Amino acid sequence: MTFAGFDLSDELAALANLVRDFTAREIVPAEAALGPEHRSIPQPVLGDLRTKARQVGLWCMDAPEEYGGGGLGAFDSVVVWEQACKHRFCFPIAGGGVFGHTPPVVLYAGTPEQIDTWVRPAIAEARTGFSAVAEPSGGTDPKRAIRTTAERVADGWLLNGTKMWITHADHAEYGVVYARTASGISAFVLDTSTPGITITPIPMMRDAWPFEVRFDDCLLPEDALIGEEGHGLTLAGAWLSKGRLSYAARAVGVAEEAMRLAADWAAERETFGAPLATRQAIQFVFADARVAVDAARLLTWRAAWLADRGRPEARRAAAMAKLSATETGFGVVDQMIQVLGAMGLARELPLESWFRDLRAARLIEGSSEILRDIVARDELRGAR
Ligand SMILES: Cc1cc2nc3c(=O)[nH]c(=O)nc-3n(C[C@H](O)[C@H](O)[C@H](O)COP(=O)(O)OP(=O)(O)OC[C@H]3O[C@@H](n4cnc5c(N)ncnc54)[C@H](O)[C@@H]3O)c2cc1C
Repeated sequence: MTFAGFDLSDELAALANLVRDFTAREIVPAEAALGPEHRSIPQPVLGDLRTKARQVGLWCMDAPEEYGGGGLGAFDSVVVWEQACKHRFCFPIAGGGVFGHTPPVVLYAGTPEQIDTWVRPAIAEARTGFSAVAEPSGGTDPKRAIRTTAERVADGWLLNGTKMWITHADHAEYGVVYARTASGISAFVLDTSTPGITITPIPMMRDAWPFEVRFDDCLLPEDALIGEEGHGLTLAGAWLSKGRLSYAARAVGVAEEAMRLAADWAAERETFGAPLATRQAIQFVFADARVAVDAARLLTWRAAWLADRGRPEARRAAAMAKLSATETGFGVVDQMIQVLGAMGLARELPLESWFRDLRAARLIEGSSEILRDIVARDELRGAR
């Protein structure tokens, strides 16, 4: 990997091209064939696409090789995810789940038995999991907001409480839940068939609705605890940085694709006797979008490059990347909808869906305010 010289290795460039071509050839037409009532790629379409993806080796690419994944590092992943999201349902997961569903990274901190029980089967059998931090009392400040409790009992842990806005909860077979224990916030892994779990959809502007997940006296086994008791939020930190890089890469990919679709339109569409692309007002929209998208991509690549090297500034860099890319992506998709006119809002194109997804992306995995807070902390050290 030669990010320092701005050249991608031949191997990474070939993988990114393979993912881009697969997405354009298989996922985009499959989505286009769905009626407007669909909010995700339904089974069995998803199953067929997954079989094809696995055949060409595009499966859980960012999961460790030793657990059955593709073993991509952070930098390779952001390059690949940018290409994997040039289709409608690329939120909440790039490829719409076609390339598998990599387990929550906190599970990698589990015991060998937990890895065998949760991680390997999730990759081998395409199982979906959820991560539940946020609650009715808030998501931005989980250290204070988490009210869900896990009480140590004779035969394990008794889980009680309510999680809010949880993605994938309706079809997840397992989940990671953060709960308050005697020594702080701890992470637990559970089977969603455990008695006492109630899952209720929360309709919202994004196609992929999140869910309320309620736990009433859910008895979890002793070995449900991940890592050390009280260390849950430290473990979640690793997941957040990875999640932020993924959001940043997808926002860049979507913005780039929205520009491509709008540029094709601007070249063809004529008003007052000339194509839109000949108007300076339209040209400046593309120029500004290009500057912003390239800047967001560079921030994303830099953050991933730092993450691969385990550098301490990687967390802040990931915050900058996600902030820049999601705010930019939202603005660029909005501008490209404007260029496309009414067609930009039509469900025939994916822009209206991306617009709604990117609006949500400015709150998920670190709201824009909390990301700014992370960045400002270093700028104003000592003055806060
Ligand atoms: C579609 C969707 C899917 C989601 N999926 C998941 C999931 O799978 N798992 C999960 O755990 N959570 C999930 N969330 C929850 C998400 O992480 C939270 O919405 C987010 O953390 C914000 O929390 P909140 O909504 O409770 O807002 P609050 O914490 O109440 O904050 C409200 C507003 O105030 C701002 N704010 C907060 N503190 C400050 C401050 N100090 N200074 C300035 N502004 C501040 C916030 O940025 C936000 O804009 C999802 C949310 C959505 C919308």
